[in-house]
Amino acid sequence: MIEFRNEPFTDFSKEENRLAFEAALSKVKSELGKEYDIIIGGKHIKTDRKVKSINPSNLDEVIGIISEADTDLAEQAMQTAIETFATWKKVDPAARARVLFKAAAILRRRKHEFSAWMVLEAGKSWPEADADTAEAIDFMEFYGREMIRLSERQPLTRIPGEDNNLTYIPLGVGVVIPPWNFPLAIMVGMTTSAIVAGNTVVLKPATPTNVIAAKFMEILKDAGLPDGVVNYVPGPGAEVGEYLVKHPFTRFISFTGSREVGLRINELAAKTAPGQKWIKRVVAEMGGKDSIIVDEDADLDLAADAIVKSAFGFSGQKCSACSRAIVHQNVYDEVLNKVVAKTKELKVGEAKTLGIDLGPVIDDKAYNKILEYIEIGKQEGRLMTGGGKAEGNGYFIQPTIFADVDPKARIAQEEIFGPVLAFIKAKDFDHALEIANNTEFGLTGSVICRDRLKLEKAREEFFVGNLYFNRKCTGALVGVHPFGGFNMSGTDSKAGGRDYLLLFTQAKLVSEQL
Ligand code: GLU
Repeated sequence: MIEFRNEPFTDFSKEENRLAFEAALSKVKSELGKEYDIIIGGKHIKTDRKVKSINPSNLDEVIGIISEADTDLAEQAMQTAIETFATWKKVDPAARARVLFKAAAILRRRKHEFSAWMVLEAGKSWPEADADTAEAIDFMEFYGREMIRLSERQPLTRIPGEDNNLTYIPLGVGVVIPPWNFPLAIMVGMTTSAIVAGNTVVLKPATPTNVIAAKFMEILKDAGLPDGVVNYVPGPGAEVGEYLVKHPFTRFISFTGSREVGLRINELAAKTAPGQKWIKRVVAEMGGKDSIIVDEDADLDLAADAIVKSAFGFSGQKCSACSRAIVHQNVYDEVLNKVVAKTKELKVGEAKTLGIDLGPVIDDKAYNKILEYIEIGKQEGRLMTGGGKAEGNGYFIQPTIFADVDPKARIAQEEIFGPVLAFIKAKDFDHALEIANNTEFGLTGSVICRDRLKLEKAREEFFVGNLYFNRKCTGALVGVHPFGGFNMSGTDSKAGGRDYLLLFTQAKLVSEQL
C-alpha cells in the first residue's frame, strides 16, 4: 500500500479548475430542494417532521428538505446499530479499511461536487470548501492505514513458554455528533474512524448541514459499507441527541461542537442508566479562544498575513480561528495598522462567487450572537473596522477589529465564532504569553517571532494543543498536525494523529501457556 499523502488543494487560478468547479456548482444547483430521508439499517424513512436546509448566502434558496427523527426512531437506529455490531465487529480490519479507501476514491472523483454542496449549504468559499473535501479524503486514507497498523501484532516482551497477543477490539455502538463548520471533513473523520475500528454508529448530523451528511451516506453505500453500520438520524440535538447520549447501550460519544453542548454531553454520559454495563467514553472537541502573539522583532508582514487569514477565514467560524492578536507594545500600532489595512480589502459576499474572502455566517442564531458580541466590543474596545452587518440576502457580517481590548474583557475571553478580532497590547514577550494563557480554552495559538530563546519558551509554556510558529493558527493537516486542544477546548483527541483510533477501541490481551 502506498504511503499516506495529503490530498492536494485545487489551484483555482487555472481556468480548467474554475470551469470544473462552475460545472459542479451548476450540477448541485439543479439538485437543490430535494427531500432527504432518515436512513436506518439501509432503509429510507420519511417523517412528517421536516426541517429545511437554507443557503446562508441566499435565504430564499432551499438546499434540501430533511425528515427529522424522534426518540422512537432514535431507538430504532440504536437497536439496528446494536444488531449490526455483532457482524461488523467480526469483519477483518483490513476489509473495513478497504471500505474507507474505496469511499475516499469515490469522494476524490466527486470532489468538486461535494465542495459545491458546502459552498451552498455552509457558505464556504471555494478554497475553504475544497480544503474541507480534501481533509475528508485525508481522514479516510489516514484512518484506513491506521487500522491496518493497529491490527498488526504488537511487539510484546516475550517470555519462554507463553504466546502473548494484544489486539485492539471495537467498543460497540457510538453516537457521532459532528459540527456544521467542517460539515464534510470532521463528520467524515468522526464517523469513519469509529467504523473502521469495528464499531457501528448512530450519526446525528449538525442540523444546518444535514444535506452534506446525507450525500456522504450515498458514498458509504457505493463503497460497499453494509447497511446498519452507519445510521443517519437527523433531528433536534436537545431531543434526539440527548436521547442517544443517555441510552444505556451507547458505548461512546464522539462530539465536536460548542463548549456548552460538550459539557452537557459529558454530564449526561457520566450518569449510569439502568441496564448500562460500561463507563461511556466521551470524546469531545469543543471551542477555542485562540491567540497569535507578535513579538517586537517579528516579521510584521508575515504577522499581519497570519492574523488576517486565521481570524477571517470562513468568517472566523473555526475553533482554531485567531480571535486575539496579542502584540508587543513596540510594534503594536504598526501591526494593528497593517492588519486593519488588509482587512479593509477583504471582500464579503455570496460564497458561490470565486474571489470572496468571507461568505456568510451559518444561521440566524450565529448571526445574532455575533452581532451582539460586536455591540459588546464597542463598549470594550476601539472599533477599527467593520462593526456590523454586511449587505446581502444572507447572514453577512463585516470583518471586525477592536483595538486596545483588556485581556479580561468578554470579547477577549468568550468564544464568538465569527469574524471578530480583539487586539491586546502586551508589555513584553512574557506578558504576551501570560495573556495568551489566560482563557479557559487551550486549542491553538501562534507565535510570530525571530528570537530562538523566546520560541523555546513559548514551546514550553504556551498551553495549547496545537501551537504554530511563524504561521497561521488554522488549517491543521491530517497526519501532519494532529488536532485537539487542552482545558475547555476538549479531550485533546488529536484527530488525524496516530493516537486517535485508540479512542474507539479497547485492547485485549490473550496469554496462552504453551
Ligand atoms: N482543524 C481545523 C483547523 O485546524 C479546525 C477545526 C474546527 O474548527 O473544528 O483549522
